[in-house]
Order: sequence, then structure tokens, then C-alpha cells
Amino acid sequence: MDNTEKEMKVTRRPYRNTDMTMPLLGFGLMRLPQKDGKVDYATAEKMVAKAMAAGCNYFDTAYMYHGGESERFVGDVLSKYPRDSYFLTSKMPIAMMNSASDNERIFKEQLERTKAGYFDFYFMHWLNAAHWEKAKSFGTLEFMKKMQAEGKIRRLGFSFHGEPETLEIIAKAFPWDLVQIQLNYLDWELCRSGEQYEVLSKLGIPISVMEPLKGGTLVRLTPDSKKIFEQANPNASIASWGLRYVASLPNIQVVLSGMSAIEHMEDNLRTFSPLVPLSDDERKVIAQALVAYRKSGAVPCTVCRYCSPCPVGVDIPRNLALLNQVKGGLPLFHAKLVYDAMQEDSRASSCVACGACKKKCPQSIDIPKYMKEIAATFK
Ligand code: SF4
Ligand code: SF4
Repeated sequence: MDNTEKEMKVTRRPYRNTDMTMPLLGFGLMRLPQKDGKVDYATAEKMVAKAMAAGCNYFDTAYMYHGGESERFVGDVLSKYPRDSYFLTSKMPIAMMNSASDNERIFKEQLERTKAGYFDFYFMHWLNAAHWEKAKSFGTLEFMKKMQAEGKIRRLGFSFHGEPETLEIIAKAFPWDLVQIQLNYLDWELCRSGEQYEVLSKLGIPISVMEPLKGGTLVRLTPDSKKIFEQANPNASIASWGLRYVASLPNIQVVLSGMSAIEHMEDNLRTFSPLVPLSDDERKVIAQALVAYRKSGAVPCTVCRYCSPCPVGVDIPRNLALLNQVKGGLPLFHAKLVYDAMQEDSRASSCVACGACKKKCPQSIDIPKYMKEIAATFK
């Protein structure tokens, strides 16, 4: 640890009108570093140590992240730290539930996996209109309140992907403690995230932000949009622009970054130690970069993989990433080499347009349409 790291302490914000403070940067455990198809414990453990040393002590996991490995990682690594030295959030996977009895079965499994004893925050995962109705029919909120009364949950919330109108209905249904929404400078209008921010802020509900960099999309960007940021400030990382955009909003309690490498962690810790809010001139730079990015026609895929597996084996995010690279200026023959090297089943040309993936995409991407475009591009 060098001197700079020793001094890094992330900015904290009070939680409502209490003495409790929370770090403005949280560690999202959805994209942990990988090695040989598994969580790379050696690297991820070092990242946790760096985060804890800088006071970045909010960790966000979920039953379905890394197929359950994320919660197990929490149990293996975070449980080595004193339980009151970190905040832990996990989530009930409403989409995976088949009956009311799943509330208890899944929650018990989560407590065992994480070895946490209790969750500081516990959410219903991925609410939208349909999942909210499902959660109501399974009595999930009542179950969560019961767990809270038993001391196994401290505060209740939900994560959300949907329209602001639906968010308002759910937000008004209970005095929630924290709500997680997708927010970044691209989605502010595209996914009506700005309206979602306003709904929650008016109700006085603190916000946890997921996808502040849209799954890395706002780091990869396009050459033209990157150039605008680099010219405005050659010393600032591209990621720092997106993170500061979100963290500068006053009703943000915590910004989750799904860091998957030590360098991401170090860069993000620097951005938040301390957080310097965006100036008006810097906001204009983001607006210019956004105009340049939109011109490319890139597909806003966050690589969350909620659309997968495809029944015929198409690797949807990989195909979309390749298309975005072409739109961003990668020569077609280079991209075609990569495409042709993919297994035949995983190529966009294998898509049979069944539409199963489209219903599951939180970004409402018309996946079959793009698979057709990609197949035609690489024919
Ligand atoms: S529409 Fe295409 S990509 Fe999507 S699930 Fe069906 S076959 Fe797979
Ligand atoms: S297409 Fe949609 S669901 Fe699939 S990885 Fe991209 S954003 Fe996620």
C-alpha cells in the first residue's frame, strides 16, 4: 500500500437524519473478477481489502449474482471482517420464485451462504409491474417484515427496472428505507431514470444506484466521445465522469460500481476520495460526449446477461458488443474474424427470433432485431 492509498477515504453521506453514515461508493458484487470461469478469489479478496481500508464498506450482492457464487464469496471473505464494520445488502429473486414457500427457503440459504447473521438492507430484486404483483401474491413483503422483526434484516427496499409510473405505485406502497434504480447520464432520458430519481426524491426515499456506467458502456463509449472527455481533462479517467455525474445528485445514498479488476477499484476510490461534484462546465462536456455517442447508434447493452441463456445458444451480449465495436469504428474485417471464430450456435445468425430474450431484458433492447442486423452485417 503506497502513501496515496493510505490517505484515500471515500466521501460518506449521512443516512437520512441519523448518525449513521454510508460511503458514497459501494462495491457491487455482480461482476467480480473471473479466472477459469469462476470468481478469482485472490484478486477479489485484495479488492475487498482495498475497499475496506478506504471506508468503502457497502457491499451489494444478490441470490442470482454469479449463480450464487457472489453470496458465497461474501460468506468466505467478508465474514472475516467484524460484522459491524460493513453494510451488506442482498435480494429476494422474485423472478426465480415459484411459490410463497420460496421466501423462507431462499432467505435461509442466503443467510447460510453469506454467514452474515443479518442483512443491513434486504431488497426485492428486479421489481417491475409483473414482479410486484408476483411478490404480493407470495407475501414477500410480509415475510421481509417478519425477518426484520426477528433481527435478520435491518432495513427494507427493492431494486427496480421499469417505468416511473410503476415505480411511484410501489414506492408509495410502503415506507421503504432504500431503493435501487439504474441511473447514469445515458439513461437519464433513455430509460427515464431522471423521472425515477424525481419520484423517489419527492417521497424522501434514499437511492442506491446500479449501473452508473451502464455495465461498462460508459467507459468503452466510442472514440469520438472519449476524445471529448480526454481533451476536457487528460488526467480524469473516462469512468470518473460517469460516477461523478451520478454522485453529484443530492438524493444519492450510494453508487454501486461493479468493479472487476484492481485497477477499477483504485480508479474509483480515487474518484470518491473525496468526491468533487461536477461543475457546470463539466456537465456541458458530458452533454457533448453524449451527443457524439448517440450518433454512433450503439446498442445500450449492460452485459447483465438477464436475457441468457438463449434456447438455441446465441451469446447475445457478445454479439451486441461486437456490433457496438463496429459502430464505434472497429474495421469490419477485424470484427468478422472474431465473429467467425465464435461457435456457430453462439453467433447471431443462429437466432430463430423466438423473442424469449426480449421479454427479459431490463434495457428493453429489441434483441431479435439486432441479431438480424448482426447476422446481415457479418454475412
Ligand atoms: S430471439 Fe434469438 S437470441 Fe433471443 S432467445 Fe430467441 S433465439 Fe435466442
Ligand atoms: S441484451 Fe439486455 S438482458 Fe441481455 S445482457 Fe444486454 S442488457 Fe442484459
